[in-house]
Formats: sequence, C-alpha cells, structure tokens
Amino acid sequence: PEVITVQELANRMAEKGADLVKSLFKMGQAVTLNQSIDQDTAELLVEEFGHRIQRVSEADVEIGIEGDLDPVESLKVRAPVVTIMGHVDHGKTSLLDALRGTDVVAGESGGITQHIGAYQVTTKGGDIITFLDTPGHEAFSEMRARGANVTDIVILVVAADDGLMPQTIEAINHTKAAGVPMIVAINKCDKPEANPQKVRERLLEHEIVVEDMGGDVQDVQVSALKKTGLDELIEKILLQAEVMELTANPDRAAEGNVIEAQLDKGRGAVATVLVRKGTLKVGDTFVIGAESGKVRALVNDKGQQVKSAGPSVPVEVLGLSGVPMAGDQMTVVENEARAREVAAYRQEQITRKRTASVPTNFENMFSALS
Ligand code: GDP
Ligand code: MG
Repeated sequence: PEVITVQELANRMAEKGADLVKSLFKMGQAVTLNQSIDQDTAELLVEEFGHRIQRVSEADVEIGIEGDLDPVESLKVRAPVVTIMGHVDHGKTSLLDALRGTDVVAGESGGITQHIGAYQVTTKGGDIITFLDTPGHEAFSEMRARGANVTDIVILVVAADDGLMPQTIEAINHTKAAGVPMIVAINKCDKPEANPQKVRERLLEHEIVVEDMGGDVQDVQVSALKKTGLDELIEKILLQAEVMELTANPDRAAEGNVIEAQLDKGRGAVATVLVRKGTLKVGDTFVIGAESGKVRALVNDKGQQVKSAGPSVPVEVLGLSGVPMAGDQMTVVENEARAREVAAYRQEQITRKRTASVPTNFENMFSALS
C-alpha cells in the first residue's frame, strides 16, 4: 500500500521534492509530488539520499501519515490550489482581484467578499479553483519551510512591458525547487509598449519553454486591468489540474494547513485553514501546530457561516486556544485527551528542533539522521 506522498517524504528528509521525483523517474516510476509511494520505494529513496531509516516509537502519536492510507476508491477529485507569483507591480494583486471577479456564485450567494487569505472561484462551467490570496515569495517559501506544500499550480505573472525582473527569476527558482507546475500569465498586454514575445524568449534563458516556443509550459496573454484573457487562463488552470489528477478522501477526519492567523477583537484567535483531506466540521476537536481546540464556527470566503468544509476549501476556524503560524498543520482527532497528547508531542518536537543540530523534521515514520 502507498504510505506517503513524495512531497511529505521530501519534507521529512529536508530534500527538494523535485529531486525525489527525478530519482523516482530514474527508478522507472513516473510519480508527481502529490502522489503517494509505497514503503519499499520510500525506504529506497531515504537510503539513496543518504539518510538513515529509523522508526520512531511515537509513530502512533503523530497521525498525519494515516491520511496517505486512504484507499483509492475513497479518493474524489478536488479543486486545484493556485498561487500567483511574480515581480512587484507586475499585477499579482490586480490579477487575483480580476479572477475573483469571475466567480459566478459570488453575486447570487449574497455573501460579502472576505479577505481570509484564500478564496474559491466557481467557473462558468461549474468547476472550482482555490486561489491563495497571499502572493509573494516569502509566504510561499515560508510555508514550504514549515512542511506545508499547499500549492498545486503556480501562476507566474510577468508584465509584458517590463519583462523578466529579479523577483520573476526568484519566483521561477522557488517554483522549480518546489516541483510545482507553472502557467505563465503575460500581463499588461493592453499597454502599447507590451512585448509578450520578448517575455517568452527571455523565459528560455531560464529553461521555461512555453507552448508557443515548442515547449510544454502553458502561457496566456492577459490584462488584469481590462480583464482580458481571464477565461483562457482559467481554462489552462483546469487543464493543468486535470493532468495532475488531484484527489483527496473527503470522508475522513480533516487535515489542513494554516494559511494565515490572527487575534481578532471579539472573535479571539482566528485561523484560515485550507482543508487538504477529509471534511472539517463544526464541533470537531483538533490540533493546530502545538495548540488544541474545538471548532466553534466555520466562516467561508464569502463571510458566511458554514457547517463543514471539504478538501481544497479555505475556511476561517474559530475556537482556537492560541494563534498558530502560517503553514502549521491542523489535524482533527477523536477527543480532547488525544488532542492534548498530540499537542504535547508536537510541542516537544518543536523544542527538540530548536536544540538539535541535525535536521529532525522527520517526525512520523522515519527519522532523518544524515
Ligand atoms: P503587484 O505588486 O504585483 O500586486 O501589482 P498590482 O496588482 O498592485 O499592480 C501594479 C500596478 O500595475 C497598478 O497600478 C495596477 O493598476 C497596474 N496594472 C496591473 N495589471 C495591469 C494591466 O493588465 N494593465 C495595465 N495597464 N496596468 C495594470
Ligand atoms: Mg500586490
């Protein structure tokens, strides 16, 4: 049986996911980051990367790994999670706003747009896409550093009048390191001085070969200002998602990651959580990072209270005992005693990590000791 995703294994070894994918490919296995591999393959990889395998006795305390045992027949298609990256002023925020404006249910739901760190768009065709509302490379790499790889697809925004700039190249490197597929959105195509072809050519220097140039990276000309090219961009996201076969089991205890969190006057500690597997429900007992709690209320991106949230859905969670950090993992557990146990275990891990000189973020089934 499959026991762990390539990405999770990479995190635990503190290696690049893309490097693991490459090794797997050499072993004759075409596997993507979000796909799971079996125990034997995982052990082989661990050895190949020069780490020692060690089963930790606390394995049953850390429960994140159970999720990877979801039987194939329980897996349902889930919405892709998209992050927008690019150089400052190239139009990331404008594009996020423009895409949000394409949501066909926003108006009829009567909800008011809430900025909770992520939002969902329902397309004309009825498909759903989740966008992370926090553009920027720090957010992306910080989340990754914390073991949270919530992004399925990166949209690289490049202004057609300005071309490739330092942060564009940074974004390319982050995306490559994460092994996440990229779609290039060439923005500001409404401007007379726009030169999309030059952008495509410059991308070649960074081994990004777009379709027009005979490669397999999708690109699209847009104007966030004039709202042109948005349908095509959405189509390309859906196409990419389809190729990736993104799935999760919605019928299990929820697991997710904190997108952002703050102390709110009146509401207390509030975290936006992106559910990754299972369904999060009001009343659920959970652990976030090293904090435990019970879901008092869930609020969606339209400001509406909801009873539950399934895979790829971002929701605000109320009922936390403290403010967690972006990237922290949320895990639903069966009862409060269990929540305290897991929270204590995680607290111990955090303390150990701080004092250890070797990487020890290899908590679940293996322990990384190089
Ligand atoms: P960010 O820093 O990447 O988030 O960029 P912003 O979305 O804040 O946009 C920076 C500036 O570019 C703003 O003045 C926008 O109005 C402008 N802008 C964004 N998209 C377009 C576009 O498609 N066409 C034109 N002409 N201007 C744009
Ligand atoms: Mg911005």
